[in-house]
Amino acid sequence: MKKHNFSAGPCILPQEVFQQAAEAVLDFNGIGLSLLEISHRSKDFVPVMEEARAIVKRLLHLNDDYEVLFLQGGASLQFLMAPYNLLSTTGKAAYLNTGKWASNAIIEAKKLGNVDVVASSKDEKYSYIPKNYQVGAEYDYFHCTSNNTIYGTQMKEFPKVDTLVACDMSSDIFSRQLDFSKFDLIYAGAQKNMGPAGTVLVVVKKEILGKTGRDIPSYMDYSLHIDKESMFNTPPVFAVYTSLLTLQHLEKNGGIAAVEKINEQKAQLLYSEIDNNPYFEGYARKEDRSLMNVSFNITDESKKEAFDKAWIDAGINGLNGHRSLGGYRASLYNNLPLESVQLLVEVMQSIK
Ligand SMILES: *Cc1c(COP(=O)(O)O)cnc(C)c1O
Repeated sequence: MKKHNFSAGPCILPQEVFQQAAEAVLDFNGIGLSLLEISHRSKDFVPVMEEARAIVKRLLHLNDDYEVLFLQGGASLQFLMAPYNLLSTTGKAAYLNTGKWASNAIIEAKKLGNVDVVASSKDEKYSYIPKNYQVGAEYDYFHCTSNNTIYGTQMKEFPKVDTLVACDMSSDIFSRQLDFSKFDLIYAGAQKNMGPAGTVLVVVKKEILGKTGRDIPSYMDYSLHIDKESMFNTPPVFAVYTSLLTLQHLEKNGGIAAVEKINEQKAQLLYSEIDNNPYFEGYARKEDRSLMNVSFNITDESKKEAFDKAWIDAGINGLNGHRSLGGYRASLYNNLPLESVQLLVEVMQSIK
C-alpha cells in the first residue's frame, strides 16, 4: 500500500512521475538505452536540460534577464557559492537569521567575508519571522530564507531593501505565487518540492554577476555555468530529468496559481484542527505559519503513544519533528494530496 508521505525531504512526488522516471531508467524514450547510460551531450539528453531550464522561467514568470542552472552540492553548497559570486572582497553582506539553514548560510558566508546579521529570531527558538529591520545600500546583498523547514515559519512579505536580494527557497519554491523578479538570486535544493535529491536549482539575474573582484574557483562561478549552459561538467542527469517531469506535471495542472490554492486548503485544514483540538498546539507564531511545513506538539504527553500508533497504523509516514526540535511536523509539499491531510485530521480527532 502506498503510504501518505508527510516527509520533510526528500519528499513525495507525483506517482506518475515515479513511474515515468523508472521507465526512463530502463529505456529512455524508446531509444534502447537507459537515461543513466547515455552521454549528457547527446541529442537525447540536451533537450532535457534545455527544457528543464526553460520551464523554470515559465513557471516563475521570469524573463531573459534571468538564467537557470541545475548544479550539484545541494542548497548547502549555495551557502558558499552565493557569497563567492555576490560578496566583494571589501564589502559586507546582510543576513536574516530565521533558523538552522539560515544559520548555516551565515557560517559559510563568514568564511569569505564580512557578514552582519540584521535580524534574528533565535531568541524565541525561531518560532517567528523578524520584521522591522533596515538593510541599506552599504551591503552587497541581503540573504533570507523564504521558508524555514524545521520550525514551520514562512516569510509572507519580503523587506524592501536597498541592495540585491538572495533567497534560499528550498522548501517552498513553486508552492506559492510571488513576484520572483524582485529577487536577484534564488536557489533551492530539488528534494523538497521539485524532484529527487542530487541537484540544486539556481536562478540568477545575469547583470549582477562579475562584480566582486574575486578570482572564483571554476565550479563556484555562476558565470561559467551560464556560459556552459549548465553542462560545465557531467550534470546529475537523473535528478534533472525527474525534476523536469515534476515541473511538467505542475504546469499541466495549472502551474503555481493552481497548486497554491490547494496548498492553502491543506494548510488551513490542518491548522484549524491544531487550533481546535485541545490535545495539540502549533509551534510557530500564527502570522508566520508555513503552508509547507506544519510544526506542532501534543499537549498531553500521556496521549503520545496512542497518537503515534494511530498515525502509523493509518499508513502515514514522516510525521516526526526534526531531531533538533522534537514534536511533530507535517510537510504539505505540492504533491501531497488533500486526502492525506484529511486522513491526518481524522487521526488527530480520534485521540480522546
Ligand atoms: C533542506 C534545506 C537545505 C539544505 O539542502 P541540501 O540540498 O540538503 O543542502 C537548505 N535550506 C533549506 C531551507 C532547506 O529546507
